[in-house]
Amino acid sequence: MNPVIALVGRPNVGKSTLFNRLTKSRDAIVADFAGLTRDRHYGHGRQGAREFIVIDTGGFEPEASSGIFSEMAKQTRQAVAEADAVVFVVDARAGVSSQDHDIAKYLRRLGKPCVLTANKAEGMVGAAQLSEFYELGLGEVHAVSAAHGQGIRDLIDLALASLPEPEETELPADEKAAIRLTVAGRPNVGKSTLINTWLGEERLVAFDMPGTTRDAITVPFERNGQRFDLIDTAGLRKKGKVFEAIEKFSVVKTLQAIDSANVVLLLLDATQGVTDQDAHIAGYILERGRAVVLAVNKWDAVDDYQRQLLERSIETRLAFLKFASLHFISAKKRQGLGPLWSALTQAYKAATCKMSTPVLTRLLLEAVQFQSPKRAGMFRPKLRYAHQGGMNPPVIVIHGNSLEHVTDAYKRFLEARFRKEFDLVGTPLRIEMKTSH
Ligand code: GDP
Ligand code: GDP
Repeated sequence: MNPVIALVGRPNVGKSTLFNRLTKSRDAIVADFAGLTRDRHYGHGRQGAREFIVIDTGGFEPEASSGIFSEMAKQTRQAVAEADAVVFVVDARAGVSSQDHDIAKYLRRLGKPCVLTANKAEGMVGAAQLSEFYELGLGEVHAVSAAHGQGIRDLIDLALASLPEPEETELPADEKAAIRLTVAGRPNVGKSTLINTWLGEERLVAFDMPGTTRDAITVPFERNGQRFDLIDTAGLRKKGKVFEAIEKFSVVKTLQAIDSANVVLLLLDATQGVTDQDAHIAGYILERGRAVVLAVNKWDAVDDYQRQLLERSIETRLAFLKFASLHFISAKKRQGLGPLWSALTQAYKAATCKMSTPVLTRLLLEAVQFQSPKRAGMFRPKLRYAHQGGMNPPVIVIHGNSLEHVTDAYKRFLEARFRKEFDLVGTPLRIEMKTSH
């Protein structure tokens, strides 16, 4: 499981700015689960080989009514409870405030790894002002400038230093290996119902209980000769014959499970339509490059008119998952469940497909012959050859000259050709351009 870092601190110290730095977030990446966990933002970050999840606790209105401090404390406590390490942000220019003292007191008692971080410290490294933060009783103060990108790498190293390195979740080596599967979706879409329907039918191979709370539970099972490891998102425990979710929905667990899956089954609720939260989870799956199958559950509970509306809203709101297959199911009435298995296996095969350099290069050159990339001013991009740069998701690296002038429309044209040729249903595909000079 990827470790979780929470950013805490009073308003205006630069937490959101730092969050954007750490996650290099664009709109689609930030999983802002508004409504469920008001005011908390979740994102994915990476430094070298280490990956992590960042929670930003900012976003509330400091001028609002008297309840604001308790609201802040609640937001902070919830984020901190989910985190493995805390980055406590203070304002290097404003100095220590009484609110900083309150937060520090709380963090000292908590005993989680904590990095005291003085932001807005551009041009202040080693400055005397910084020493006053020692009075917070949290040890060394680390100076950064979120706005200018200074001290960020060291900050990440410090925050991760005390945490165990997560185990590599490698791709299964052979075709018989288990597919790591996550069932993701908002609360009440029917995840537990579906899983129980599945597992009730299947003989369980074994059932790992977690060694520590940081481990995810995986439930191994087999279907049509294919092994799956179901990664839990809800704290499943076996109670008698059924699995029961003992914890309420957790955004962090969902994101961690998506991170460590090969394939994600994203469940939508037919009675609710496509919500913002569905779109955020979908965006995160895409950003993380996971293979994905979409299923609309509770199909039994809607009429024809609602069905039409739903299909239209999927087409528009989840247009970025056009490559995924779409299924209409009822977990409760056990309808439409059969085809899901072949879709999950197909998505995994597509995600791990091997593409040889000669075949990729031939396809590339044929595509160029069919339609060459547009000239940009003095430059005409020259696409020379292609090779595979990764799996799950597949990455195709194209080599040539002036490739920075290849338009997005042209990249989409190439993507469509590659997808068709390799039958890439259910997986994102990344195309990278490498210009040689
Ligand atoms: P939050 O309320 O803690 O999330 O703070 P924001 O990220 O919204 O930042 C508050 C203000 O501080 C904004 O005006 C930012 O532009 C500014 N700010 C953030 N980081 C830096 C920094 O590294 N240096 C300076 N000088 N200003 C910063
Ligand atoms: P989870 O929070 O995603 O695990 O959702 P649950 O499996 O607990 O289901 C939430 C509610 O939706 C329960 O009351 C289920 O009985 C109901 N539900 C689940 N699947 C279906 C379905 O296919 N059709 C209908 N009509 N209700 C369903």
